[in-house]
Amino acid sequence: MDSDQAIVLDTAGVEELCQSCGVCCSTFRVSFYWAETTAAEDGFVPVEMTEQMNLYRACMKGTSSHTPRCAALSGNLGERVSCTIYENRPSPCREYNVFLEDGSLNPRCNQARAKHGFEPLNVRYLNESKKESN
Ligand code: SF4
Ligand code: SF4
Repeated sequence: MDSDQAIVLDTAGVEELCQSCGVCCSTFRVSFYWAETTAAEDGFVPVEMTEQMNLYRACMKGTSSHTPRCAALSGNLGERVSCTIYENRPSPCREYNVFLEDGSLNPRCNQARAKHGFEPLNVRYLNESKKESN
């Protein structure tokens, strides 16, 4: 893939990109410490959207299947999707970096897209702070 031809995205562009993709929510098992769920006093992830995996870990319902799809994902992959619990999504979803520090796309995105038969994305993130300092 020619990275010189990559489409450069700003933050709004990344949001738009993910809302038209969504494959990461239908590829990986999304697991986290159970106390992030509302079963715990300070938990925030709706427990009914999760499955207990063992004593310590829970995962988003549907993501431990052979054909994963998070129960909180709404819409059609590759068209229009949204996370129905966005404000209360678990830590792996919050911590996933769509772009690496150098502005290149996280390779896991295109790995996930390939599993669903989608074309690889050729995009880069526009780092505003670096742009201003040039
Ligand atoms: S796979 Fe990557 S580009 Fe697609 S929705 Fe997930 S984070 Fe966004
Ligand atoms: S909780 Fe939301 S962001 Fe996380 S995998 Fe499910 S749909 Fe995707």
